[in-house]
Amino acid sequence: MAEESIYTLAVHAGDDRSEHHGAFSIPVYNSSVFAFPDADEAALIHNELKPGYFYSRYGNPTTEALERSIAQLENGEACLALASGMAAVSAVIMTLVDSGDHIVAPSSMYSTATNFLLHLAEKFKIEITFIDAVDAENYRSAVRSNTKIFWVETPSNPLLQITDIKAITSIAKEHGIRTIVDNTFATPYNQQPISQGADAVVHSATKYLGGHSDLTAGVLVGSNDIIEKTRNNAGKFYGGNIAPQVSWLLMRGIKTLALRMERHNQNAFALANMLSDHSKVVSVFYPGLESHETHMTAKRQMKGFGGMIGFDVGSVDAGKAVVNNVKLCTLATSLGGVETVIQHSATMTHGGIPRDQRLAAGISDGLLRLSVGIEDINDLIRDLQQALEKL
Ligand code: PLP
Repeated sequence: MAEESIYTLAVHAGDDRSEHHGAFSIPVYNSSVFAFPDADEAALIHNELKPGYFYSRYGNPTTEALERSIAQLENGEACLALASGMAAVSAVIMTLVDSGDHIVAPSSMYSTATNFLLHLAEKFKIEITFIDAVDAENYRSAVRSNTKIFWVETPSNPLLQITDIKAITSIAKEHGIRTIVDNTFATPYNQQPISQGADAVVHSATKYLGGHSDLTAGVLVGSNDIIEKTRNNAGKFYGGNIAPQVSWLLMRGIKTLALRMERHNQNAFALANMLSDHSKVVSVFYPGLESHETHMTAKRQMKGFGGMIGFDVGSVDAGKAVVNNVKLCTLATSLGGVETVIQHSATMTHGGIPRDQRLAAGISDGLLRLSVGIEDINDLIRDLQQALEKL
């Protein structure tokens, strides 16, 4: 069904009603353990000589339905669903590198992923080179004989930088390196990195895939080889499994992914244009704006530009005033839900970083991150305008 439109896939990917009495909504298999009819069957399933379930850390029918669906959405061979985005990030990296190996990653990306790589460097002697990921050639220059992974996050959190996926994956292939793309901000509605040459994709499914700010989950999609190796580690050793109820809720969220993303894209595009014309706004970071430094790359590799906007109102005080004065937008840290959420990076996500280091990382004093929801665009414009007028 991979050639179907994303609107159809979001509703039907992973459908298999044959074993569930025709149920439209797959049952939640709230069972940690599954019984065997006899000793021979127990031996076959336990030793992976026959497909089947025996213990939910190793596999659960509800979670498997979710995994089938997301593999199709991302055009990958297989998927592994875990308890959070960071569970997926850490499981795949720890599976694909050994101590002494080298990873190339963006200097600007989700800060906990950065901190996880620094943790690996300190504890397990993994070498990391952080590069400006806006220029694909920086990946090439960073290659060493022990490089195993090119890590990519595009658009990046929180600066909405765009990395050219095709350019990076072709450099990676020349050197036998695997490219893994964090596709949380774009979602498969806007971009399918595997179709553009990436080996695997990760998501914080907590965000747009779930879409309703009511669950925490992560997914990894890739070749059967990568998924099976990672599943082996994640399921047997790390144990960060997703609960069957969460798998079910995530599947329910995904049914409306395409509709939600269409609206997130439209609303964010309109708001980014309004903000860039506003006298109180110093700069706007949105890949859909022609003024964005890598707009042309975004246009080439994305169907729409997503629901995330960064904008700078000039100072810490101005940033705090905007988040205090919005009425419809909610002050919170997460993103990707149906409701519009705003945060002031300098005092919130990047509050613990010394100012000079924060500025060097591109997080200016007045940077606000907006996760644009699916509300009426006129209400959103009115709310942000009235908060900006107060500056
Ligand atoms: N990747 C990106 C781009 C994120 O923004 C986040 C969380 O904000 C994560 C990964 C981690 O996901 P989770 O919070 O579900 O562990």
